[in-house]
Amino acid sequence: MNTNSVINSKIIDGKKKSLAIREWIKVEILKLKESYNFIPGLAVIIVGDDPASHIYVKNKEKQSIEVGMNSWKYVLPANSSEKQIIYQINKLNNDSNVDGILVQLPLPKISNALERNVINAISPEKDVDGLSIVNSGKLVYGDNGLFPATPSGCIILLKHLPINLSGKKALVIGRSNLVGKPIANMLLKENCTVTVAHSKTKNLIEECKEADIIIAAIGIPNFIKGEWIKKDSIIIDVGINRIDNIDNTQKVIVGDVDYEGAINVCSAITPVPGGVGPMTIACLLLNTLKGSCIRRNIEPPVYNF
Ligand code: NAP
Repeated sequence: MNTNSVINSKIIDGKKKSLAIREWIKVEILKLKESYNFIPGLAVIIVGDDPASHIYVKNKEKQSIEVGMNSWKYVLPANSSEKQIIYQINKLNNDSNVDGILVQLPLPKISNALERNVINAISPEKDVDGLSIVNSGKLVYGDNGLFPATPSGCIILLKHLPINLSGKKALVIGRSNLVGKPIANMLLKENCTVTVAHSKTKNLIEECKEADIIIAAIGIPNFIKGEWIKKDSIIIDVGINRIDNIDNTQKVIVGDVDYEGAINVCSAITPVPGGVGPMTIACLLLNTLKGSCIRRNIEPPVYNF
């Protein structure tokens, strides 16, 4: 538990927290350079020309450079085969300057590559997205590893609230490998009593009403209503949904939770945008820093919650 505060009038400020993390990383990178004469480096592979994916990758590159990391981008044609993508991954696996490898997902439909084969071709110690079978297994076993960035960001935000997570009833809505499953395991590690809901769950409203903490990772705009949630519960909204604004004049981004309805009932909530979203790249950079030290047999600096 830590109160050095991410919360102001019920709103959990992920933007502020992510900035603090990136400032911390910057200082740690300078120390590593001075003591061990190396700079951690992140390589991103992007397949195809999807504009949204290119914006995500550009942000990752920008923030890597801002914290003082090396950053490399490899753009492969949309119709690249699994073999061609894995060939590029193997070159980076064997490059001792590269500490983190990330393949931007989803892969384009035109590519015949299976995402799981591509992800599992990344050396586990360079798998800074934490999505490989090895790192997923380590998370389930409670071993040390590199774990997915978005769920890690949710946990950091929760740990900064003035509550004790132990024994709390946590409801995770969504069971994807990217968000739902890893966050459920992370909450178990924090001694929460965890329920995982999904599209086949019966009585979701009842489940919501009983939860002290709700993590919404569904992908349906404003799905969780204020009247479904328990008074003074904590709401972590992972959803990023692009919808038309009220007069259809522009696109806006909203979460999976009806923010206006929920904020009157809950004790704390992450806004969308500005909540979980900014934490994702910060946690990706934390993983790259951690991986860069472990690979060189250096004790990684630990971010002090
Ligand atoms: P996903 O792979 O599509 O998974 C969605 C999950 O929601 C599935 O497990 C699905 O259940 C469940 N679901 C769908 N309809 C439901 C319903 N009516 N009731 C209960 N559960 C339902 O999505 P994802 O990758 O986990 O992402 C979830 C959301 O988080 C998206 O909005 C995404 O854009 C956002 N996201 C944000 C970040 C970030 O940086 N903030 C990162 C990643 C994702 P089934 O398994 O039964 O189909």
